Amino acid sequence: LFPPCNGPREAQPARTTAAWSDMTTVHTSVVVPCFNEDDVIDLFHQELVAALEPTGTEFEICYVDDGSGDGTRARLKQLAATDPRVRYTSFSRNFGKESAMLAGLRMSRGEAVVLMDADLQHPPHLLPRMLELHRHGYDQVVARRDRTGEGTLRTILSQRYYRLVRRFMDVEVVDGAGDFRLLSRRAVEAVLSMPESNRFSKGLFSWIGFDTVSFAYTNVQRAAGSSKWGGRRLLNYGIDGLLSFNTRPLRLAIHTGLWLFLSALAYTVWILFNVVLDGVETPGYATLIAAVVGLGGIQLATLGIIGEYVGRIYHETKRRPHYVVRETDDSGAAQPGPAV
Ligand code: UDP
Ligand code: MG
Repeated sequence: LFPPCNGPREAQPARTTAAWSDMTTVHTSVVVPCFNEDDVIDLFHQELVAALEPTGTEFEICYVDDGSGDGTRARLKQLAATDPRVRYTSFSRNFGKESAMLAGLRMSRGEAVVLMDADLQHPPHLLPRMLELHRHGYDQVVARRDRTGEGTLRTILSQRYYRLVRRFMDVEVVDGAGDFRLLSRRAVEAVLSMPESNRFSKGLFSWIGFDTVSFAYTNVQRAAGSSKWGGRRLLNYGIDGLLSFNTRPLRLAIHTGLWLFLSALAYTVWILFNVVLDGVETPGYATLIAAVVGLGGIQLATLGIIGEYVGRIYHETKRRPHYVVRETDDSGAAQPGPAV
């Protein structure tokens, strides 16, 4: 049923450093990025605790407030004050989900770390099953949603997108496999060892490897509040996915250029023959315009691709921190800055 793995995992001590030595060992960390989730956060917290307590695991919940403009930060502070298992970090502004997940992973101390959304689209009742699979030795346990209740257009577009991505990318990205996953401690360390500021998590998780298992669950609509993903954001996410992991679009540009050159050569030879045999008779207006416009388009697109890579180099060389912390109850683990 599931791919092979290393066999049952022995109980491993949680990561400890001087700053954390006063804490009891934590087996499971749940990392939750929250952006304007005021409406749903209490309900989420209740369901999460209700799902985790029966498993008997020592757990902590690392909430990351991604610069919310509503009452999310106050709620998280309150939760952290009343429940010792809750920790939180709050950003100075909205830095995006990828940065929030990164901060959460840096905060986490558990041997198993679960990433999940705050809107209850990642059902907490799946956690015992994920922990069980982790105990059987898997380093990554992925809960994959099906596309129940989603618009037909979006479903078709996503499926096309994943087909395209699979053709172009070196890393395996699976349709429906999002950020709802459990990572073992060594998988988390592997993810954290990647310092890039342009973080495309789906690709990073796949890139680190390790024994991975996935199972599907029925898609659920968010419990309250609204999704932060519009069409444009999704398109940019798609472009990120394509460009983050290799330079194949550049290779494609070279191939196109070579084919065009060869075609031009053949066409030139043909024209020369015609001129020698029959003399010049057609004005060639249509051919000229077509060639100028077509080639101009291809050149601009290629320049755009090159520019996109140069822009990425520019961003990476600045080595800015991934986020700025406004406040946290975490002693050092969520410190921003490139993880080297
Ligand atoms: N999120 C975040 N920062 C953002 C956008 C979203 O931390 O800039 C969080 C959000 O609070 C939620 C998760 O990421 O916990 C998924 O967001 P959303 O539900 O809007 O995305 P969707 O489920 O529509 O893909
Ligand atoms: Mg959601």
